[in-house]
Amino acid sequence: MVEITGADQKQAWIDKRFPSVESLASGWWSIPTPVPIPGLRYVLSYVAEGDDGILVVDPGWASDEAWDALTAGIAETGHTVKDVVGILVTHAHPDHYGLAAKLKEESGAWLGMHPAEIATFPRRFGGAEQLRGQMKDLWIGSGIPQDDIEEMSQNFGPRPEIDWIEPEVRLNEGDMVPMNGLNLKSIWTPGHTPGHLCFYDEDKQVMLTGDHVLPRITPNIGVSPQQTPNPLQEFMDSLTQVGAYETKDVYPAHEYRFNGIAERTSELREHHEHRLAELVAAMEARPNSTTYELAEALTWSRPWSDLQTWARRSASGETLSHIFMLLFQGKVLHDGGVPQRWRLR
Ligand SMILES: [Zn+2]
Ligand SMILES: [Zn+2]
Repeated sequence: MVEITGADQKQAWIDKRFPSVESLASGWWSIPTPVPIPGLRYVLSYVAEGDDGILVVDPGWASDEAWDALTAGIAETGHTVKDVVGILVTHAHPDHYGLAAKLKEESGAWLGMHPAEIATFPRRFGGAEQLRGQMKDLWIGSGIPQDDIEEMSQNFGPRPEIDWIEPEVRLNEGDMVPMNGLNLKSIWTPGHTPGHLCFYDEDKQVMLTGDHVLPRITPNIGVSPQQTPNPLQEFMDSLTQVGAYETKDVYPAHEYRFNGIAERTSELREHHEHRLAELVAAMEARPNSTTYELAEALTWSRPWSDLQTWARRSASGETLSHIFMLLFQGKVLHDGGVPQRWRLR
C-alpha cells in the first residue's frame, strides 16, 4: 500500500491552497514554491543541513514569486541564501532548474547534475530555433494536423528567462553528493528526461524522487530531440531500480510525500504495461495508422475531442514513446513514409 505521509500537503492539494514549509523528522525541510502550470501549482524544493552550510534540491521556477517563496522558506530553516553551499537539480525542466543560476549567483554555491542532463541544454542543439525545427519534424512524422503544428510551434521551446549555466559538479550513478555531514547518493533514473537523478539519504533512508516517482500522477514520458531513443524502456528500468531501495519516506518534487516506493513503482510499471497492451490492440484493429491516429484510439483522462492542442501533443508524444518501446522489442514496423504508418510485425 502507498501511504500518504505528507497529510497536510495532501489536504492542501484537495483544498487548492498552497502547502506550508515543513521541517521533517529526517532533518530535511520541504519548501513549496509556485509554478505557473495549473495541474502542478508548485514544486517542492528540499533543504538539508551539512557541516559547512545547506544544500538545496530543485530551486524552482524562474520567477520573482518563486524566488520570494524559496528565500522565505530558507529563512524558516534558520539560514539565509548565503548559507547555501550546494545546489542539486534532479532534471533540467523549468520548474526544477529555473532558479538554479540565480541561486548560484546569490550564494556562490556549486551546482550538481547528471552529465546526460547537461547534454540536453538548448545550446547543445544549436539553440531554440534549431530545437523547434527538429521538434516540428517529429510532429510532422507523427501525423499531427498542420493547424495544430503551427499552434504548437509557437508555444514550444526553451523558456527565454532561463539562464543555462553549466553545473561544475557532475554526478553519475552511485556518486555521493559532495556535502560534508550528509550521506546522499545519486541514483541515475533516465526516462522522464535522459539525465534525471534521484537522491537517496543513506542515513535517514529517505528518497528524493524529483519527477521520477510521484504519488498520484504519472510523469510524462514523451519523445523529443532532447530524449534518448527508447525513453519508456529506460523509465521502466529506472522504476525497478529505485523501487528496490529500503525507504522510510519518499520526497517527490510535486504533490505530497508518501511511503511505499516499491508499491508505487510497480503501479507505474503496470500502468505502462496496460498502455502497451492497449496500443497493440489499437494497431491490430487499425493497421497502418499514424502515431496521432493511434493516440486518438487510446483512452485518456478525458475524451480526445475535449483535449486541448497541448494535451493532444503530449498524448502523441506519450504514444510515440510506447511505440518506440515496441519497436525496440521488434514487435512493430513502420512504412518509412512521412508521416510514419505503424503496424504489428
Ligand atoms: Zn519534469
Ligand atoms: Zn516537475
